[in-house]
Amino acid sequence: MALSELSRRELLQAGAVALVGSGVLWREASAQQARPRPARIPKNIIFMVSDGMSMGVPSVAEPFSQMVRGKGTQWFRLLQDPEAVTGLFETRSLDSLVTDSSAASSAWGSGSRVFNGAVNVLPDGTKLTPIAQLMRQAGKRIGLVTTTTITHATPAGFAASLPNRDDEHIIAEQYLGVVDVLMGGGRRFFDAQSRADKRDLIAEYQRKGYAFWERREQVRGRERPEKVLGLFFPGHLPFTVDHQNSPQLREQVPTLAEMTRKALEILSSSPRGFLLQVEGGRVDHAAHANDAAAILWDQLAFDDAVVVALDFVRRNPDTLLVITSDHGNSNPGLNGMGEEYRDSEKCLERVTRAKGSYVAIQELLRREGTPTPDRVRDAIREVTGIEVSREEAEVVASVASGKPAPTLNRAHANLVGVLGEILSNYNGIAWIGTQHTGDWVLVTALGAGKEMFAGIRPHKEAFHRMLKLVGISFRNPEMSIEQARRYLARAPRVRPEHWV
Ligand SMILES: [Zn+2]
Repeated sequence: MALSELSRRELLQAGAVALVGSGVLWREASAQQARPRPARIPKNIIFMVSDGMSMGVPSVAEPFSQMVRGKGTQWFRLLQDPEAVTGLFETRSLDSLVTDSSAASSAWGSGSRVFNGAVNVLPDGTKLTPIAQLMRQAGKRIGLVTTTTITHATPAGFAASLPNRDDEHIIAEQYLGVVDVLMGGGRRFFDAQSRADKRDLIAEYQRKGYAFWERREQVRGRERPEKVLGLFFPGHLPFTVDHQNSPQLREQVPTLAEMTRKALEILSSSPRGFLLQVEGGRVDHAAHANDAAAILWDQLAFDDAVVVALDFVRRNPDTLLVITSDHGNSNPGLNGMGEEYRDSEKCLERVTRAKGSYVAIQELLRREGTPTPDRVRDAIREVTGIEVSREEAEVVASVASGKPAPTLNRAHANLVGVLGEILSNYNGIAWIGTQHTGDWVLVTALGAGKEMFAGIRPHKEAFHRMLKLVGISFRNPEMSIEQARRYLARAPRVRPEHWV
């Protein structure tokens, strides 16, 4: 929409005034750009990501939710709501038709496609300004909430710039003073004992006014500090299916919905609004693991966070809510099973009996030496409730002991791929591989500015649209896909030496 349609007063209220003094200019666009037309300027933006969520995930999560909770998902209801806008993102990165999480989140976070593995840095080393810094200059407060390490690629894409996403210890440094509310896993990237440089980042955050939280009760309590560093696990938070079956994990680790609620409580006191990214990050990991129970339970945990966000939007209509994913992953789907496909429902019901993720199976198998077929059968039965055949257990035991997997699909020629194939005979959930895919992803938007997300768009447009909605005019440098091809032809190394 054209900024000229927004009153100057509205823009100033939304925080654009702060940019005049900070060197970032806002401008009045021409009347030709007058479509689409948001109802008003969002003061707040909540950007929710179910990471690695192929379309099959919400499709199967809906009947699964009915089975385990006696009600459907909020996202499904929202998709039927005439108030909500639905669209798709095209997701390719600068060097591949299939993006990784850092390139996808960088596209949202900077408006530029980058190489897979990079976080807001172009191949020639040019650092891009992430959206968190721009929104901050506009007076908004910033929050990142995730079930992965807080320094993982998706949160990092909104607030960090560095050549290599794996340098999570550097991302941990870059958030300081830029992000007000951080909640998730990844304590080992902040803790002096586990950092190679022995720097105590937790103490540094505390000196800058952050409260440090490490227990679930702190998230569920009444406290609302101005700034929070909440690190509830050394690495990623556990899968929901493992969390809900472990009293110890439940005691320590908050749910995504709880962290989202607390982040909103804290950020909503900001007079000029906020930008909050919420990531259900382990949906992606469950897809990589071809783990039906893990992906469905984590999708439901994400959906619980959607309920919290929607409640906030209803009470604060000057909020834009965007719910999406960054790419497909392994594209799970419920197969037609049995005669006239009438066994599909019964197969899906088997997933409801799972007591843990495949991590739990692997832990059982790892306990004593090379797994035998009998131990494989016992471990699978104990965790999933499914009784696999002797022949299938022999294949799993053989692959677990390092022998080649007897599958023609090379993407499945590994332990999780074989396990996924075998269990699909029982639960009906089949996978096309164990990696990300090039699918378009679902986008749902609600609240102020939602029209900006209708139809199919390149994912990088989200950056420009969010900035435009709040009255910020700013463009990062970009490299075209053709330029990237020429660059790769000259310098095929993806991470040149000058990057490190
Ligand atoms: Zn991802």
